[in-house]
Amino acid sequence: MKKFLIIANWKLNGNFYFINKNINLIKKKIDNLLSFCDLSIAPPYLYISYINNFLKNTSISLTAQNVDIHTEGSFTGEISINMLKDVGVKYVIIGHSERRLYHNEDNNLISKKFILIKNNGLIPIICLGETEKQKEQNQTEKVCIQQINNILENSNINILNKTIIAYEPIWAIGSGKSANINEIEKIILYIKKYIASLDAKIAENIYFLYGGSVNYSNLDIFLKKKIINGLLVGKASLTTENFISLVKKAEKIINSLNRS
Ligand code: PEP
Repeated sequence: MKKFLIIANWKLNGNFYFINKNINLIKKKIDNLLSFCDLSIAPPYLYISYINNFLKNTSISLTAQNVDIHTEGSFTGEISINMLKDVGVKYVIIGHSERRLYHNEDNNLISKKFILIKNNGLIPIICLGETEKQKEQNQTEKVCIQQINNILENSNINILNKTIIAYEPIWAIGSGKSANINEIEKIILYIKKYIASLDAKIAENIYFLYGGSVNYSNLDIFLKKKIINGLLVGKASLTTENFISLVKKAEKIINSLNRS
């Protein structure tokens, strides 16, 4: 992976009109800048294959917003890891708070998904973060470490090698209010140190992202922290002109900071 990673999570948004209008624009305006970062788009499943045709010969990759734990069979409405591989997906987001909340996904299911994705050669992006109430009760670290431990109970430390952990405080997602940068740094450092206490090399090989109301105006503060290896961007990725400006700004800042 490159110095930095930006994931555009479109969630349940977009259609052929939106894609036809915007993908070529993204390709034209951003692809040539991408020596500084990996850019990946997470559209709804239905459009992955279609978008992939536009992205051939570019360095822009595709991310899935979810995967099922079953590889085939009678599971109406689900999508398997092999299908994601078939259509050219690189990363898979799991544990997003919207799936935890609206689809009752728990740590155990998310751990199974993580292991499945990793064992199939794709890269899991696991989202961890606390609710507002858990934050008030100083539970943030506990909530994040519980999910890591759950993965480790079902596998071993090597499963975390070269994967991605996105710290996404639930109360910050879509709220327009990002988390305080010192708190983000503190929690990512805590998770990283915890993993390093088990295996220092693996901790270094993990990418840590921040997600939660990142936009063009607040971008700088996240980029200046070396512990943040990338950003998960929801709402601000849906207006293509603004998203292009955001990536261009990130490129300028990262190059000027000479991040390694
Ligand atoms: C997200 O849902 O992962 C996210 C980061 O959304 P937003 O940028 O809209 O807060």
